[in-house]
Amino acid sequence: MFRVGSGHDTHRLEAGRPLVLGGVRVDHPKGLAGHSDADVVLHAVTDALLGAAALGDIGDLFPDTDPAHQGADSRVFLAEALARVGRAGWRPVNLDVTVFAQEPKLGPVKAAIRANLAGLLGLPTDAVSVKAKTGEKVGHVGRGEALGCHAVVLVQKTDFTAEGAEAAEKRQS
Ligand code: MG
Repeated sequence: MFRVGSGHDTHRLEAGRPLVLGGVRVDHPKGLAGHSDADVVLHAVTDALLGAAALGDIGDLFPDTDPAHQGADSRVFLAEALARVGRAGWRPVNLDVTVFAQEPKLGPVKAAIRANLAGLLGLPTDAVSVKAKTGEKVGHVGRGEALGCHAVVLVQKTDFTAEGAEAAEKRQS
């Protein structure tokens, strides 16, 4: 009745690129490098959703060799993954995201990212969590070379009912 999926992504920080996190434009002199808009949060969430339904990964669906995805808005990737997960009979229950960034400080934008993710997934805000960690000044995140994101999502069978679960349990015993 339930499944869990996890997603992880990393993108390099580069001067002069826009920084988009969870579909929210963040004011910062550097942005993330990548073929699409490089939204590391949406990529991790998309992979978590696909993972929960065992439907492959974001690279299978949207190869970065495809010119159609050049500069793509990653909300399109998430919407397509959500549609596929839905067609496979699953809907998201809750989402927990951890963003790894030395800079910028994400405290001021966490609420906006959370609200935006909730809207994109059709979830109430209290079913979406956005946490931020620095890299403690070590490693690629700590040195300010990259941002990372880890996402975990729970999905539930869309035809799930308490009565159905009880009946299934009785059949098994
Ligand atoms: Mg990516």
